Amino acid sequence: MALKCWVASANDPSTDFPIQNLPYGVFRYGNQTHIGIAIGDKILDLHACGVGGLLVGVSAEARNACLSETLNELMELGPEVWSALRREVTNLLSGEAHSEVEKSLVPMCEVEMQLPARTGDYTDFYASIDHARRVGKLFRPDNPLLPNYKYLPVGYHGRASSIVVSGFPIRRPQGQTKPADSEPLFAPSKSVDYELEIGAFVGPGNRLGNPISINEAEKHIFGLCLVNDWSARDLQAWEYQPLGPFLAKSFATSVSPWVVSMEALAPYRVPVRSRGKDDPALLDYLQPLDTQKCAIDLTLEVYLASLKMRQAGIPPERISRSNLRDLYWTFAQFVTHHTSNGCNLRSGDLLATGTVSGPLEGSEGCLLEMRHRAVRLRLPTGEERVFLEDEDRVIFRAFTERHNLPRIGFGLCEGIVKKHR
Ligand code: MN
Repeated sequence: MALKCWVASANDPSTDFPIQNLPYGVFRYGNQTHIGIAIGDKILDLHACGVGGLLVGVSAEARNACLSETLNELMELGPEVWSALRREVTNLLSGEAHSEVEKSLVPMCEVEMQLPARTGDYTDFYASIDHARRVGKLFRPDNPLLPNYKYLPVGYHGRASSIVVSGFPIRRPQGQTKPADSEPLFAPSKSVDYELEIGAFVGPGNRLGNPISINEAEKHIFGLCLVNDWSARDLQAWEYQPLGPFLAKSFATSVSPWVVSMEALAPYRVPVRSRGKDDPALLDYLQPLDTQKCAIDLTLEVYLASLKMRQAGIPPERISRSNLRDLYWTFAQFVTHHTSNGCNLRSGDLLATGTVSGPLEGSEGCLLEMRHRAVRLRLPTGEERVFLEDEDRVIFRAFTERHNLPRIGFGLCEGIVKKHR
């Protein structure tokens, strides 16, 4: 029998936030910025709980971290502290309604969500082999995967300063492009795209020079969020060689405001995608002891709503669906490979998967990948899309739905593309 919560909306089967989820976020309510936990259509204000003496079962440092205006302090404390806090909050929200706790609940519709953490560094990987193959094929039909792909999780250093929270408008960037038939020019991008990704927030960091081993790696992950790595494909095509993505990516990266803990996701773990029989063996430093629960069964979806659709009252149209379990590389491997040269990660750093695609048509995690299709993407209004148009609203969702387990979700990560200035 699933655990029930006395907050009625948390027991609605369609909610992303039942008592089994308890994701963390930062919200602004009136003129206060507090840490909270989503529960149904409410937020449990952890600052209020701390001040009100409700967090008796956790350490003083955990209580202090709950008074902060970002999650960084809590991220630093590690899995045992996160577990104790989760137990405490589960107790407060289950059983009988509790009037003191009730006073610490805030309606989600009345707050303004903030970035969950101060992020010092942002790294983006390329962990979906289906994405890498499909994009590689556009450029190298005979040899889509580069030789390093199956040996290491390929990544690049992104830009942390332009990470924005879901809902922040995305200004179409200008930049340098090289049309096939003319000299390079400077103009607004004509090929703004989204990239459907999941990001991991780093919990406790490591000291410079001290790599994190593969079997310790997950202790350094606080939780996961949705990420949209907005990309300008025309800028990217001209600038990316030889040093990789630069201005085509750094104009904005959106994250969802709620961070789902690894503990909440534990029941939804599945074996990692098996490597093909001709694939090289993993080098020892990337080989975990237990491969049965390395991956996560998480459905990811992309919805699009054009201005015309919104004006006609047509709901957002689902244009893609993929699953995180199809990735070739895991979050633990990201952490271990990233730190294997001694590089230090810090609490609040963001490690994103790269575009998450699946093998089938309909599971492409970005518009660029749909170019292999015979028919263009068509919206219910009859409009067609090759890339995003101004005023297009892009919405990402993620949720797990396994037999006999409650559905838990990530909320939304959305943004509207705005005309360039
Ligand atoms: Mn990306």
